[in-house]
Amino acid sequence: LFSLQDEVAIVTGGAQGLGREMSLGLAEAGAHVVIADLDINTAQRTASEIQALGRESLALRVDVTSKEQVEQMVSQSLSRFGKIDILITSAGIGQWRKAEEMSEEDWKRVIDVNLTGTFLCCQAVGREMIKRKKGSIITISSMSGLIANTPQPQSHYNASKGGVIMLTKSLASEWVKYNVRVNTIAPGYMETKLVAELLKSYPDYARIWKELTPMGRLGRPEEIKGPCVFLASAASSYVTGSVLVMDGGYTI
Ligand code: NAD
Repeated sequence: LFSLQDEVAIVTGGAQGLGREMSLGLAEAGAHVVIADLDINTAQRTASEIQALGRESLALRVDVTSKEQVEQMVSQSLSRFGKIDILITSAGIGQWRKAEEMSEEDWKRVIDVNLTGTFLCCQAVGREMIKRKKGSIITISSMSGLIANTPQPQSHYNASKGGVIMLTKSLASEWVKYNVRVNTIAPGYMETKLVAELLKSYPDYARIWKELTPMGRLGRPEEIKGPCVFLASAASSYVTGSVLVMDGGYTI
């Protein structure tokens, strides 16, 4: 039911953090994985980890905000593997800024990477999936797309992730007739580099977050593998347009 034997996946932001874990999870389930990331050195390291699992992997340097680079990512993946069955859009950035002090540049950068980048990847890969009438797309939103999680100020990030949720539902609705499913995973606080960087300036937040989380802890990055393999595989064949929240109960 959960097998992805010989399926081909592209994971943006797949070099590290949640993207790396999802790439490894897909490979463990049998998929070959294209790691598309700004950071090519780390992407190559993750690709080697996948090859060590006995699957094929290709590392590509891609900036998801560039339509041209995203289209090249699709053509390079197709010339190597001949098809794309799964897309995961994990490339994303986070930043804390008070709304009243935020520069337009900060606003645009976060929206550009998190929302426009997700759209460009879904559009370019979606076109190929529509042709084959087969595909599973998993976007990565956040519980911050569902709630304005006090105390940290991040209106641009929250807006981008709320946008990813509505983008996911819209694509699911448009592409259901082509047998392309589109779902989103909305993680809570996960112990990745992105979060570690943010916590450097606000060490108290880790304690506050744990207190606010019914499970009493942050998420371990590898805990995203299960939701990812579920949504990628036939195990979720009747699931589209859904928001799979994995937040230790934070938003209950
Ligand atoms: P991370 O910083 O560890 O990894 C993000 C990856 O994306 C990096 O490898 C980075 O090089 C890549 N990237 C950044 N900008 C890019 C661009 N323009 N083009 C291509 N690649 C780019 O972050 P993470 O914690 O693994 O987060 C992954 C996703 O999960 C993000 O979308 C993030 O918003 C979301 N998320 C994370 C958490 C969390 O607590 N860690 C919670 C909710 C949602």
